[in-house]
Amino acid sequence: MDLEDLDSPPLDGAGKVWLKAMTRPQLLAWAQTTLGARPMQAEKIWAGLHRHLAATAMALPGLDADLRTRLDASARIDALALNDVHTASDGTRKLALRTDDGAVIEAVLIPGVFGDQARATLCISSQVGCAMGCRFCLTAKMGLLRHLSAAEIVEQVILARRLFPETWISNVVFMGMGEPLHNLDAVIAATRILCDDHGIGLSARRVTVSTSGLIPAIQRYVAESPARLAVSINATTDEIRDQIMPVNRKYPLGALIAALRALPLRRNDRVTLEYVLLADLNDTPADVERLAALVAGLPCKLNLIPFNPHPGSEFRRPAPERVLAFKAALQAHHLNTSIRATRGDERMAACGQLGRVPGPEDARPGRPSPPRSRRPPGLVLV
Ligand code: SF4
Repeated sequence: MDLEDLDSPPLDGAGKVWLKAMTRPQLLAWAQTTLGARPMQAEKIWAGLHRHLAATAMALPGLDADLRTRLDASARIDALALNDVHTASDGTRKLALRTDDGAVIEAVLIPGVFGDQARATLCISSQVGCAMGCRFCLTAKMGLLRHLSAAEIVEQVILARRLFPETWISNVVFMGMGEPLHNLDAVIAATRILCDDHGIGLSARRVTVSTSGLIPAIQRYVAESPARLAVSINATTDEIRDQIMPVNRKYPLGALIAALRALPLRRNDRVTLEYVLLADLNDTPADVERLAALVAGLPCKLNLIPFNPHPGSEFRRPAPERVLAFKAALQAHHLNTSIRATRGDERMAACGQLGRVPGPEDARPGRPSPPRSRRPPGLVLV
């Protein structure tokens, strides 16, 4: 779908238009043509949703009662319901959010570093589950249930802002449940909506979409989204990456790095390369040398993520001194390298820990299982 195409506005299950799935030009045009709103009224609908964070049509400020009633009859304001909030001792909060069809997705609010509780990063989900099968990731164990709509993606940010008004959510990362670039139309639309200056107004430099390496989708994403890109590398040989990230069998490491080198990046832009450190698997001195050679000359910064264990995982987190040595060795190659602080892990809110841990209730006879969507075409994963 052309994102500016209004022939097919996104609808919920009851046939109502998802207002938060529309970019501002789409919403303004839809409100005028479908509701008969004047241009200024259409602007007020947009501002009411994305600036005033109104939860219902009746709470949208500055509209007359008749327009509110027409809006309420034909459109959806809310896209998710709050199920639960878990707070870790470091202030990290995991939000469990329920969709119309009963799925639960997760978003994580991570306070600023060094105790800056007034500023935060929100990590959001793009799918219910994930098809990519990364072996170190809890979400992978769910498989893919379905894509989220752009409205459900944007709603995670709006709900978090509404719930925690004292916290300035300055950064948003698409690193929660799902492979964002597997849900490309919705993710591009969501990044445009989140970065719209007349609405939520996030800086495009502070919105980052992370991918496991879907090369054709990366190229379209960079061309069409204002936001930044992060790519999970996680290994320095195809042999290891094939084992831990099945996507590598379709888009191997060499092709992925070549595609990143060919991207038409904006001036001063860098791709973030994420590297989950797994003890004795990808954290050796030889890995440092191979990684440095792979990315030499690529405008990038490396983000090292010590593995966050979850029940049943087969991997271990390297010792802290090993993580520091890995970082120092990369810096010796003049690579911009940082270590992501582990936040919220005792509440299963850390990187790679999102998703439901299978429990005894899953074995209960008669328990209905959620519907599994077919893996969308074009993805051949083994
Ligand atoms: S790491 Fe990301 S892409 Fe890989 S299975 Fe988990 S959610 Fe999916």
